[in-house]
Amino acid sequence: MSRPKNAMEIFKHLEKSNCRECGEKSCLAFAGAVFTGAKPIEACPRVDEATKALFNCGAGETGDNGDIFFSRLKEEMASCDFAEAAQRIGGRVSGDTLVLKVLGKDFGVSHDGHFHTDLHVNPYLGVPFLNHVLRGKGTQPKEEWISYRDIPGGREQYNLFHRRCEVNMKRLADSSAGLFDDLVHLFDAKAVAAQFQSDISVVLRFFPTVPMMVCYWDDQDGLDSSLNVFYDSTAIDNVDAESLFYLGVGFTYMLERLALRHG
Ligand code: SF4
Repeated sequence: MSRPKNAMEIFKHLEKSNCRECGEKSCLAFAGAVFTGAKPIEACPRVDEATKALFNCGAGETGDNGDIFFSRLKEEMASCDFAEAAQRIGGRVSGDTLVLKVLGKDFGVSHDGHFHTDLHVNPYLGVPFLNHVLRGKGTQPKEEWISYRDIPGGREQYNLFHRRCEVNMKRLADSSAGLFDDLVHLFDAKAVAAQFQSDISVVLRFFPTVPMMVCYWDDQDGLDSSLNVFYDSTAIDNVDAESLFYLGVGFTYMLERLALRHG
């Protein structure tokens, strides 16, 4: 990774089509978001591998290291005991495929490392899924909600998580009254009794034993709105802190792209 001196250094490597697939209104805005750390370069699906290698920030994403890591995890599927894994983490085996419910939809992987799902598979989802299959303990959630900051190993990455996940998701919630309806209808989230005195709280399940709660506070009494994301206190038994980072951030990108598509 190289640290650019300003946003223009990044901008000159972009397509400049202003297609908005990255969730920003223009390539210039996207360059600014990458420069401040609010977005990774990989959030633009149109950058080439050389540009990713220049500006990407590491494992789990789609830079060279991330691709190698992702490939290795897929290779580990060849020797994975799917029957044991299904029992451990709450999935089922169908032929040569281990299937879990991911965001309410069937999401399967076969021993050759291929995914079988209607969801778009990228490393933000694929890496946590495979980590969970291989190493998740299957600990049942306790519904004790904690910030990503309080997940063991999460504190160092929290500022980045906050900018890329919570701040961007709040911006979507502020501008789209339908965001929470989309969460419920598209991703099988469940509205729950308001937590932490929030105005809206919904819980969605990345995997059967890995829920995430999103809480939103409306603006009132001169205070700006706010949004926080919480994981169950057992989450770290089921997937590592880095995977929880990618799930939260990757899901936010997915919502941004959906919001753009629906105007
Ligand atoms: S995805 Fe964003 S940065 Fe990439 S070409 Fe489209 S507008 Fe530009």
